[in-house]
Amino acid sequence: MVYYIGKYSKAEVKRRSAAHGVRSEKDWLVRRKRETMSRVLVLNATYQPLNLVNLKRAVILVLKNKAEIIAEGDGVLRSEKAALPLPTVIRLVYYVNVPYRSAALTRRAVFARDNHTCQYCGGRAESVDHVVPRSRGGEHAWENVVAACRKCNARKMNRLPSEAGLRLMRKPFRPRDSIWLISMAGEIHPTWEPYLEAAVVG
Ligand SMILES: [Zn+2]
Repeated sequence: MVYYIGKYSKAEVKRRSAAHGVRSEKDWLVRRKRETMSRVLVLNATYQPLNLVNLKRAVILVLKNKAEIIAEGDGVLRSEKAALPLPTVIRLVYYVNVPYRSAALTRRAVFARDNHTCQYCGGRAESVDHVVPRSRGGEHAWENVVAACRKCNARKMNRLPSEAGLRLMRKPFRPRDSIWLISMAGEIHPTWEPYLEAAVVG
């Protein structure tokens, strides 16, 4: 589906909404807002994920010939003179030297690594658990934290999994450097996947 991003009069919005089969004017505006707010994955010249930027910034980089569009979403950006496919992944033309960015151990990042899944029962994770409890010398480190549901967390208390009759589905690990990207985005656009694979496999 093609729709438009930009400033239009109310009447124009109405006309375009109808023309593109959008259910209601509100629906169209919500959709427009979502796309405007959506983030674009920036790859280095080497195709390594670098950053997330908003759509406006991505378009500026492309229009200034500093980046090229690698993947496109549904939609077109229109101005009076030109139309540009809606970018979802762009690649910088010149290589940018960035220092290694290690994944910060945050709740969001742990949830992203563990796919929002309780590592004991496979249910929906709601909290972060220290496998070896901190009260028993367990470290606050990637290798000792997992996403857990409230039920398993309550059952485990200050015990080792074995003592609570729980078993880890997979050994916790330090994710590759791009996990911060995924946890930042919350949701991954399908077109990003080929470039993030190395980051999520761990
Ligand atoms: Zn659980």
